[in-house]
Amino acid sequence: MCVCCGEDTETIVHMLFFCPTAKVVWKLAPVKWDGIAEMQGNFGNWWDAVMQSAKETNGLNRIQLTVNILWQVWKARNKMTFQAERGNAKLIVDKAQSEWLEYEANNETNGRPDITAEEKGNSQQK
Ligand SMILES: [Zn+2]
Repeated sequence: MCVCCGEDTETIVHMLFFCPTAKVVWKLAPVKWDGIAEMQGNFGNWWDAVMQSAKETNGLNRIQLTVNILWQVWKARNKMTFQAERGNAKLIVDKAQSEWLEYEANNETNGRPDITAEEKGNSQQK
């Protein structure tokens, strides 16, 4: 049983998408995947669809932010499970976004492969 809501079996997709807190997180999230929402019942299929956007404009940024959101939802679930601390959807989204921005800033400072040029080159395929 899901510790966070007590309403359903805790599966990967319940925890990441369908738990009430997770639903609010995705509503507040600055990255939207509405076009593939029907795939959320199977995480593998949903993730494959998310990865299809890698070559679109800002695709990698969208994926990186999404990974941070998934990670923060998981961490909030663990806090509730092990420390009985209830997660707040707005704080989860804020933390995901700030950690992603920090990651981006760190990469800009330390250098990384130039994915921006590659993204620009592929944006016409959209
Ligand atoms: Zn739940």
